[in-house]
Amino acid sequence: MPGPTHDPAPLPAEPEQPALFDWEDTVPPVHDDRRSYDSPAARRLLDIRAVYAEPAAAASPRGRQILAGLPGVPVTEVSSHWRIPSLHGNDGNVARWTRVKTETLVLGVKRTLATRPNGRSADWIAPGASNGCAMACAYCYVPRRKGYANPITLFTNIEAIVEHVRRHVRAQGPKREPNQCDPHAWVYDIGENGDCSVDDLLCDNTADLVAAFRSLPTAKASFATKFVNPALLDLDPRGRTRIRFSLMPADDSKLLDIRTSPVAERIAAAADFHDAGYEVHFNLSPVVLRQGWQRDWAELLGHLDDVLPARVKQQAAAEIIMLTHNQALHEVNLGWHPRAEDVLWQPEAQENKRSQNGAVNVRYTPGVKSGAIDRLTGIIASRAPWLRVRYAF
Ligand code: SF4
Repeated sequence: MPGPTHDPAPLPAEPEQPALFDWEDTVPPVHDDRRSYDSPAARRLLDIRAVYAEPAAAASPRGRQILAGLPGVPVTEVSSHWRIPSLHGNDGNVARWTRVKTETLVLGVKRTLATRPNGRSADWIAPGASNGCAMACAYCYVPRRKGYANPITLFTNIEAIVEHVRRHVRAQGPKREPNQCDPHAWVYDIGENGDCSVDDLLCDNTADLVAAFRSLPTAKASFATKFVNPALLDLDPRGRTRIRFSLMPADDSKLLDIRTSPVAERIAAAADFHDAGYEVHFNLSPVVLRQGWQRDWAELLGHLDDVLPARVKQQAAAEIIMLTHNQALHEVNLGWHPRAEDVLWQPEAQENKRSQNGAVNVRYTPGVKSGAIDRLTGIIASRAPWLRVRYAF
């Protein structure tokens, strides 16, 4: 599946925004010391042996910082992070892509800086500081444009990304109407196409974004994660970053969430992240319908109720996201992880829907989906009544 060779068409440049009200008006310092993080979990996930880099990315301060942390690793120049034939596309990579994800890093410059409205998980989707992931969830949509072997691409122009976000936040002014994203703050998703916790093993892009939102009193960063990275506890987010731990029953996770932190570990980390200054929410996602799913979700929610302290429950909220699958991904998965398809591919309960980019997405039929959402919200009401459901999709 060839990917596009450039980011989507650029939007008109945003005008400079005057200060709208009285807030701290200094640009927070961009971190310039890579925090080294070395744990068995990190080493299992990443053992970088090859870097592909756009020349401008390698020469940038962030690029130099990343490469300094990878002494002796060969660097191959590429003209575009979008087009690296030996990495992207699926042909020939199916058998080796967890290796590709473990051993390869791409450095690029994000050329199009655009913030898109969302309205479900967040008010806005900020331009991400990465694309691709070292984990390998069988249902992941992130690699849809580069092919499913895509390893992490880190964007090195983090100063420009942070500045873009700051300008966008300032242009909104205060949030006047509460909504389910947040009653007071504009919420910006900063990790649409990767996992910010894992990116932090390699560079300070996540740290820089957390620092930026610390000084934006009308906004909040938000990202979903399936990896517990204790180094994030040092970032002092002061309530301006929402971390969303993704949860699913342990048996589903073992089958589908390849290379991620165990679900019990994510739950066990919630109180530490809350105490470190994060808002902690949960993504109940994806909800996969299969024999016994209601029993296993009830068990998971009961476990949440048992182990989370009251201070975490008080501020928690959840998103419910039903599985969306994809015809092309189904075919790819049959080549490396066919057991996952036993639960992901349920044609009798699913229907096809062609997405804007032409891909054939596969979703539960409306009747199946709404019945399942009703049942899951009922289970939440009985097992974890403190867990406010922000939205179900
Ligand atoms: S952790 Fe997220 S981005 Fe990474 S493979 Fe899983 S679903 Fe995709």
